[in-house]
Amino acid sequence: MIFSSSLLENAVNEFARLPGIGKKTALRLVLHLIKQDVTDVTRFSEAISLMREEIKFCSRCHNISDAALCNICSNHSRKQDLLCVVENIRDVIAIESTQQFNGIYHVLGGIISPLDGIGPDQLNIDSLVKRMETEPITEIIFALNANIQGDTTIYYIGKKLKAYPVKITTIARGIAFGGELEYADEMTLAKSISNRIPVENYINAGN
Ligand SMILES: [Zn+2]
Repeated sequence: MIFSSSLLENAVNEFARLPGIGKKTALRLVLHLIKQDVTDVTRFSEAISLMREEIKFCSRCHNISDAALCNICSNHSRKQDLLCVVENIRDVIAIESTQQFNGIYHVLGGIISPLDGIGPDQLNIDSLVKRMETEPITEIIFALNANIQGDTTIYYIGKKLKAYPVKITTIARGIAFGGELEYADEMTLAKSISNRIPVENYINAGN
């Protein structure tokens, strides 16, 4: 793509860095913005910079938050002994949308995937183990996607938690569960949480 303006080129390049946005789409978006009022575009860009500058991650569960503790962690009516481990914030949103889970979360920030160069050290695993020492957790539910990376992550963390008297379960999988948690419909997801199974049975079954 050859541009007549470096301002235009820079803006297109920035948009093209977003996931799923190619150069052509980036150009279309930028040309759209050029047609808008300057005040509208300023409001748009300010909302993005403010979000990025001010957004916090919960110091306890790593969920996205406006304060030091997220609104799930600071809600005392939620079961403090039932902890659900998820890969990312999109999974928290998916499970919260079912309105069937009343415990708390721990967001790993990814999944163990050696092929992608993601090892346990890059994930929020140490802080999960630490929570076992300071919080009254009696059950940990792994709600990870049903694939090799998910299983590896469950196995790795499961071993780290062996020293603690905690029940470890994983959400039931299989039926119409396309793999990606966030794409599961709410009914399926709610069911798979209530039909959770102990991790030992799950691993021994050769999954
Ligand atoms: Zn939290």
